[in-house]
Amino acid sequence: MNKRILVVEDDVAIGHLIKMTLNTQHYEYETVQDGQNALQRTISMKPDVIILDLGLPDMDGVEVIHKIRSWSQTPIIVVSARDEEYDKINALDAGADDYVTKPFSVDELLARIRVALRRNINERNIDQDQPVFVNGNLKIDYLANTVFVHGEEVHLTPIEYKLLVVLSKHVGKVLTHNFLLKEVWLNALQSDVPSLRVFMVTLRKKIEEDPANPKYIQTHIRVGYRMLRYGGDK
Ligand code: CA
Repeated sequence: MNKRILVVEDDVAIGHLIKMTLNTQHYEYETVQDGQNALQRTISMKPDVIILDLGLPDMDGVEVIHKIRSWSQTPIIVVSARDEEYDKINALDAGADDYVTKPFSVDELLARIRVALRRNINERNIDQDQPVFVNGNLKIDYLANTVFVHGEEVHLTPIEYKLLVVLSKHVGKVLTHNFLLKEVWLNALQSDVPSLRVFMVTLRKKIEEDPANPKYIQTHIRVGYRMLRYGGDK
């Protein structure tokens, strides 16, 4: 069955671009222009992915995400303007999976949709509580607290290990700096973004074949990080 996408966008030109893009891949889609209809259609259509503009006429896009997340884990890709950095981060913290910044390219949007669809399939089919996580040549044994790359055990510090585990538990999803600080340190005030970056550098040296060109953990400048499926969609 074709994948169904709900497009929530009140800007006619951008809505048109998104529809043209979806047509090229034969996705099924519906479009709505405001938050109320977005909520109703999410219930009735049960989309596989939601593409959501943050600036809607009737409701804040972040509020729409909060409402949807109260009952649904459907992947949400946010569409934001360049000057809406703060909104974008709020949207991710509210439970959005990913974002594209206007103006975006057709290829960029399609790549984000593929990652979101894959994440949706993984969430549905894989038992989240399984004790071993495998991604390409990376293996995490959650029970034994051990990490292997190419079958060789790598020794991580407790913080590096926690960071890797949080990223792996949300593979495919962009995690904000704030989210990671809270999850890894339990209290965001105990650490800060510069030290998060330092731990990321040391973690990458241990798990990435080429730390300058990371395959597992993607950087989102000023936003956060995401673990991608190895060899998967970028
Ligand atoms: Ca808008």
